[in-house]
Amino acid sequence: MSRITSGPDEQRPRAYVGRFAPSPTGPLHFGSLIAALASYVDARAAGGSWLLRIEDVDRERSRLEHEAAIRRQLAAFALEHDGDVVRQSERIDHYRSALERLRDQGSVYPCVCSRRLLETAPRNQEGEVIYPGSCRVRAVDTFGGRHSIRFKLAHSPPQDEVIEDRIEGVITQNVAKDVGDFVLLRADGDVAYQLAVVVDDELQGVTDVVRGADLLLNTPRQRILQRALGFRDLRYAHVPIVTNDQGEKLSKQTRAIALPTDHNSVLAALRRAWAFLNQPALEQVSSARDFLDQATLLWAVSRIKKHPAHIDKEPFESLEAAQNL
Ligand code: GLU
Repeated sequence: MSRITSGPDEQRPRAYVGRFAPSPTGPLHFGSLIAALASYVDARAAGGSWLLRIEDVDRERSRLEHEAAIRRQLAAFALEHDGDVVRQSERIDHYRSALERLRDQGSVYPCVCSRRLLETAPRNQEGEVIYPGSCRVRAVDTFGGRHSIRFKLAHSPPQDEVIEDRIEGVITQNVAKDVGDFVLLRADGDVAYQLAVVVDDELQGVTDVVRGADLLLNTPRQRILQRALGFRDLRYAHVPIVTNDQGEKLSKQTRAIALPTDHNSVLAALRRAWAFLNQPALEQVSSARDFLDQATLLWAVSRIKKHPAHIDKEPFESLEAAQNL
């Protein structure tokens, strides 16, 4: 891996590099638009670049057709990225070498606990299992067997990880207590999100992460990994997430409606997303490109209200209904 330690030029402030990192497990929906729009405009307002990374490490759920749909949707919204699109499935060697580095440092261990075995373990507020550390203390013989690889957290003293988020303010989490040693390589051989995201953000020179607040409590884990690998710190801004009227996060699982790509719907969706981000309304807008250019001039992160935010109804039902009239 190149550029994994800090050199003298790290003292200079780095030019802003942002990114949008969708998982191709379905087309983009209104919730994804909030994250894409906020990260795009934040990058452009800072005179920075904006990268597109397809997070397809989950081989079972990722589909090329979803990636194609996402790219068509981004084009319709004029959310144009810089540079080549990066696909995580093509970067496994980078993740492997980071894993080897951690192994050489004694920071990881194999784990043979099955999901079933962990069913009775306590869960944190996000509903994730708090790993009890069973395999940390036993000498696991993994020869030929299925096993995952976990990161070995420092336990004594258990450390609070403190993140200063540009929207959420100061977030503190004791990862050892709230999450436990977390998975970096899954038993099915897939690289875990935490590892892939940290390696890619570093290797792509990302300085700023703007993404949904559903990922907020992943950030302390990512910070710990960044430190263990000698990577640079990133700035974070977690935008509120959109929920449906049952209070569920819009997602593929809750059957969120795909973002429409016709001119009128695109402008209506952009206006709605912009209002959700609590930014001042734009008057005369001729195209998505024009919208984004004007939005970039007006953008202020400080106006965004903290999570949880709420919309009563998923917008595209009403947009579609309006179009059918
Ligand atoms: N791939 C993640 C998602 O689609 C986003 C990861 C990130 O922005 O760090 O939810």
